[in-house]
Amino acid sequence: MAVPVVDPDLCTGCELCVDAAPNTFEMNDDGISVVVNPTGDDEDAIQEAIDDCPVEAISWSE
Ligand code: SF4
Repeated sequence: MAVPVVDPDLCTGCELCVDAAPNTFEMNDDGISVVVNPTGDDEDAIQEAIDDCPVEAISWSE
């Protein structure tokens, strides 16, 4: 199963992914997005988060 992963070195903390898939992504104390539940939202919402990310910090990982 593919799961979304965030590259913390690329994330700028814009929070767009949390808007698109709020049950999957959360901002940590450093203002960086982390995956809290890889199946928290349906695949379309997670894909939207990936597509919305301005710095392409999110990808699918097998
Ligand atoms: S959309 Fe991208 S840059 Fe913005 S918070 Fe999410 S992972 Fe970080």
